[in-house]
Amino acid sequence: MTAPPTTAPDARTSTLDLIGNTPLVLLKGPSEAAGCEIWGKCEFANPGASVKDRAALWILRDAEAKGLLQPGGTIVEGTAGNTGIGMALVANARGYRTIIVMPETQSREKMDTLRALGAELVLVPAAPFSNPAHFVHTSRRLAEETEGAIWANQFDNIANRKAHIESTAPEIWQQMEGRIDGFTCAAGTGGTIAGVGMGLKAFDENITIALTDPHGAALYNYYANGELKAEGSSVAEGIGQGRITANLDGAPIDTQFRISDEDGLHWVGRLLSEEGLCLGLSSGINVAGAVALGRQLGAGSRVATILCDTGFRYLSSLYNPGWLEAKGLPVFPWLSR
Ligand code: PMP
Repeated sequence: MTAPPTTAPDARTSTLDLIGNTPLVLLKGPSEAAGCEIWGKCEFANPGASVKDRAALWILRDAEAKGLLQPGGTIVEGTAGNTGIGMALVANARGYRTIIVMPETQSREKMDTLRALGAELVLVPAAPFSNPAHFVHTSRRLAEETEGAIWANQFDNIANRKAHIESTAPEIWQQMEGRIDGFTCAAGTGGTIAGVGMGLKAFDENITIALTDPHGAALYNYYANGELKAEGSSVAEGIGQGRITANLDGAPIDTQFRISDEDGLHWVGRLLSEEGLCLGLSSGINVAGAVALGRQLGAGSRVATILCDTGFRYLSSLYNPGWLEAKGLPVFPWLSR
């Protein structure tokens, strides 16, 4: 057998370099539904299986560069789970301890994963942001009380969106060979939509940046008419913001869509059964938003979105008939067989 050429090696010299450079894939069903090309950025292919590995790495490197983190120090973070998983991995790789504060309503898989990775897990009841017991405020207090600790503060630390300005946006631009008409995704911290939006606009200001908002979040109304007002609710984890975080401040949002859990689940089900992609609900909501944006931009347009995390993280919820029925959501037909 002839040896393959050695010109394009993909060996990386540090496990931290495994973060980013994720593949981009053309999504068949969504492209057909939109009448144009819909591409998905496979963020589930990061080592922590979500888009948040990038934010975790950039926040850690920023803290190190500012001299805030000493060897053997501690990183404390409040998170819906995925940032905690990314943070625990990068912290292990750099020799830090991780303390993660998480609402007890998040998926069982995320809690088990965090414990398995060695993070110290603090569960708090779900509470509104105005309540001092909210996971974000609890994590800040814990960081203040812990010797040698920093607070990662993903919502208002703009090292988060910088990850997407400096990595996700240029990757998408290169992978689409500079031919991209629109980008959309939902916001948790807002780091992804703001960072990718800013990064892409710097390459071509004509690219339409659209926010895809789940029900129960306040950003759709904010970008549509300036009013931070939430309506309805969603079971999607990791997205749904009620305020303008520092990461969202100045995000170049041209237009916005509001997407229901049912519409998001429709795409989660179809992408799994027709294209072999097992995703979480925020990815389905993003794809529904991308289809809406594609229809608006018209035939021949090229739209990209984010496939945020793996569905394996939601086996006890999204892929569990009992859970879906209890939430009044449709059950994927193959689950009732
Ligand atoms: N989807 C999932 C599953 C997430 O965990 C997050 C992060 N909270 C997001 C989407 C949104 O990403 P961002 O924080 O960059 O807005």
